[in-house]
Amino acid sequence: MDSKELQFFKELLLSQRSEILNKTASLRNDTLSEGSVQGDEADLAVSEQTLEQQLRFQQRDSQHLQKIDYSLGRIEEGSFGMCEGCEEPLDRKRLIARPVANLCVACKEDQESQERRFA
Ligand SMILES: [Zn+2]
Repeated sequence: MDSKELQFFKELLLSQRSEILNKTASLRNDTLSEGSVQGDEADLAVSEQTLEQQLRFQQRDSQHLQKIDYSLGRIEEGSFGMCEGCEEPLDRKRLIARPVANLCVACKEDQESQERRFA
C-alpha cells in the first residue's frame, strides 16, 4: 500500500474515531440531565432500560475505538492492510467498508468457527 492510500485510511479511521468520541460525549450529557429528573416507577423502569441500552452501545463503541486505535498503530508500523492470519493483503473494498478489519475473509471465517467450537 502506498503512502497516499495509507493517508486515506488514516483519515478514514480518524474521522470514525472522532465520530464515536463526539457521540459518547453527547450521550454522557443526556444521561446526566436525565438523572436529575424525578419520575414515577414506570418512568424509572424505562430510563433504566434506556441506560442499559446506552451502556451496551457504549461498550460496543469503546471496543470499536480500541480497534480503530489498533489499526492506526498498524498504519504507523507499516503492517496496515495485511491479514494478520495469512499475511496476504486485504481486499481494498473490504477495507474501505471496514477499515478496522485485520483478517481476510477466509481467516475471519476460520476464527469464527473456532470461536463457535470453544463457546
Ligand atoms: Zn488471511
